[in-house]
Amino acid sequence: MLVGVPTETKVHEYRVGLTPAGARELSARGHQVLVQRGAGLGAGLADEAYEAAGAQLVDGAAEVYARAELVVKVKEPQPDECAMLRPGQVLFAYLHLAPDRAQAEALLASGATAIAYETVTDAGGGLPLLAPMSEVAGRMAIQAGAHALEKAQGGSGVLLGGVPGVAPAEVLVLGGGTVGLNAARMAMGLGARVTVVDRSLERLRQIDELYGDRVATLYSTRDSIDDRLPRSDLVVGAVLVPGAAAPRLVTRAQLALMRPGSVLVDVAIDQGGCFGTSRPTTHDAPTYEVDGIIHYCVANMPGAVARTSTFALTNATLPRVLELADKGLVQALADDVHLRNGLNVHAGRITHRAVADALSLPH
Ligand code: NAD
Repeated sequence: MLVGVPTETKVHEYRVGLTPAGARELSARGHQVLVQRGAGLGAGLADEAYEAAGAQLVDGAAEVYARAELVVKVKEPQPDECAMLRPGQVLFAYLHLAPDRAQAEALLASGATAIAYETVTDAGGGLPLLAPMSEVAGRMAIQAGAHALEKAQGGSGVLLGGVPGVAPAEVLVLGGGTVGLNAARMAMGLGARVTVVDRSLERLRQIDELYGDRVATLYSTRDSIDDRLPRSDLVVGAVLVPGAAAPRLVTRAQLALMRPGSVLVDVAIDQGGCFGTSRPTTHDAPTYEVDGIIHYCVANMPGAVARTSTFALTNATLPRVLELADKGLVQALADDVHLRNGLNVHAGRITHRAVADALSLPH
């Protein structure tokens, strides 16, 4: 199969859909790989590395879209990219179609088949192509929070790990899923005292089994959060209710419970945020202050560490890319119910029920 990898065009997107290692795996199985010149540069992956892995470099996106049978990328196609997709072609990328009618209509009109990373499932009921980005964002949340706590950034001037004779900081993690657990691990690693709040007792049990008394676990109620806020230097918002807006767990009034200069990192901002005072920010201006509390609410945190994020993402996507290339679309989907769950658009129809329902389109 001819697999094409265009350069990402969304603003500040530096990841790439396939690494040279992926190109090598595909070439070794007899597939052809077309890579747009410069596609990997944002992630530190040189054109020569792709060439050495057996890929052919081409100059523009137009040639990739014109020739590739399978287009592998990271972010949803922008309008000019949708216009280059054609019937019979397969697109494999993050799509997030539910809130994006314009993209859905463009994909339907293209006649192409679109498989969305974010709806591919695994045997445990998880979303394996979303999890790597949650791992990145969770770990980054502590790094970003630690930086925001510095005095020059408006923070309270607290060092997460403390030093001998000075107590470490308190980190409160709301939501003990993938983001929350990764944030907790990083905070622990830096020597902070960590509390994880979740509404799933099962989750809290798992965390307790994993970390014992290195992490305090708390059941999520207004009371338990109120109780912890006054002593928390850094609060990470990491809750998710699938398919719904993030629950608001800290209101503006509750900010008054916290010490000035304390930091909120709202990783759940991409679902609306779990602090009442959250609004999306960018890597250019990641923080702002409300009532003396520093807020960090970057909606695409993994973008800041494009190289790590590219490897994390492609580790998870490559096996599915190989499946599609080796077997072809029809057989790959027939053999793998989890990949089939990723199918969002086929031959002018929305093929994913939740996406169709969200867009009020036939399924
Ligand atoms: P997850 O499903 O693994 O974990 C979410 C956890 O929240 C679950 O354990 C759930 O029980 C818990 N939860 C739900 N409601 C709660 C409540 N009221 N109180 C306490 N806990 C509650 O999800 P995840 O992969 O960890 O993702 C978390 C959020 O981070 C999502 O919104 C995701 O989209 C977002 N995210 C953002 C970025 C970014 O760049 N900002 C990157 C990756 C993920």
